[in-house]
Amino acid sequence: MEIVYYCKYCKAFMGVIDGSRVPVEALGFSILTAEEQADMIQYDGAQDTTYVRTVCEYCESALRSHPDLLLSQTPIQ
Ligand SMILES: [Zn+2]
Repeated sequence: MEIVYYCKYCKAFMGVIDGSRVPVEALGFSILTAEEQADMIQYDGAQDTTYVRTVCEYCESALRSHPDLLLSQTPIQ
């Protein structure tokens, strides 16, 4: 199984891990709540691939200097 990391804001590909070589506990998912896991992790059974939504360095620094960008993406006006 492959584990693909991508940025949830700009969809940038951030890396891939061969999940069969890494114990799941080492990925840190177990520290997340079930809700956080459901939000961050999507499993594609057809491709046997797990997608992990994270934030790339570019978006992280952009959000840090412009936190209002986060709010502008919410549908609540
Ligand atoms: Zn990004």
